[in-house]
Amino acid sequence: ILDMSLRFIEEDGNDYQVLGIAYDLTRVRQLEKMQKDFVSNVSHELKTPVTSLLGFTETLLDGAKEDPKTLTQFLEIMQKDALRLQQLIQEILQLSRDGKNIAYDDQTIMLHPFIQEILRSYRKTIREKQLTINILGDGKMTYTTKYELFYPIVKNLVENAIQYSQANEEIIIDFGFADTFYFVVKDSGIGISLEDQERIFERFYRVDKARSRHSGGTGLGLAIVHNYTELLGGTVSIDSHLGLGSTFTVKLPKK
Ligand code: ADP
Repeated sequence: ILDMSLRFIEEDGNDYQVLGIAYDLTRVRQLEKMQKDFVSNVSHELKTPVTSLLGFTETLLDGAKEDPKTLTQFLEIMQKDALRLQQLIQEILQLSRDGKNIAYDDQTIMLHPFIQEILRSYRKTIREKQLTINILGDGKMTYTTKYELFYPIVKNLVENAIQYSQANEEIIIDFGFADTFYFVVKDSGIGISLEDQERIFERFYRVDKARSRHSGGTGLGLAIVHNYTELLGGTVSIDSHLGLGSTFTVKLPKK
């Protein structure tokens, strides 16, 4: 709401004053549009694997199941579709959860083992791509925070660094205390243009939709990173150059 008071002198020489209140609807409209876009994006993203699942079950029931090779091949595709649905639903729920209303407890996290544990779930890709992962932060350092919010932040950043690195590249993970607690994930992968950097934290925004979907991306990871960092009272920033790699820095309050 804006309070306005305008004063002007007309040609007739009289002095006029206009008082009024104007409602700024731009922000409200923007939020409405974001909600609508979100719902339509969610529907679209959910429809794709469901349509695929229905298509394959129908073909199997029509007789394709009699051929054991086809049966196995189709079941594998259907498993991928189901896993994709599971991930989408989990991430949509993570995003819609209003963290402010949930009283998460603080936990003290041993950062090194915590990161090693996350890396373990990507060991197949790390091995296939022959990536080198360097954890620079102090081996004994701990950080006390709400685990339920901190874990998805780190997981998504590490996952992206692995996903968007090319063969034989290096990923550096660093953390420590300066003015704030900082957590840095640096890759030398494909990088992100300045134009895309402006939109990268939006829900469902992907630079290359086909590539992201192929590698199991939902376009929600960075939106979760952004939301959860804010809920923890911190900031996330990006420094990236096309073809050279990206560095994501999360700064969180010292405890
Ligand atoms: P996704 O599930 O597609 O990875 P994110 O929200 O995590 O979704 O990221 C949004 C988009 O930002 C990705 O689709 C990708 O285009 C780009 N992106 C994210 N992290 C990186 C990175 N480390 N290097 C290059 N591009 C990235």
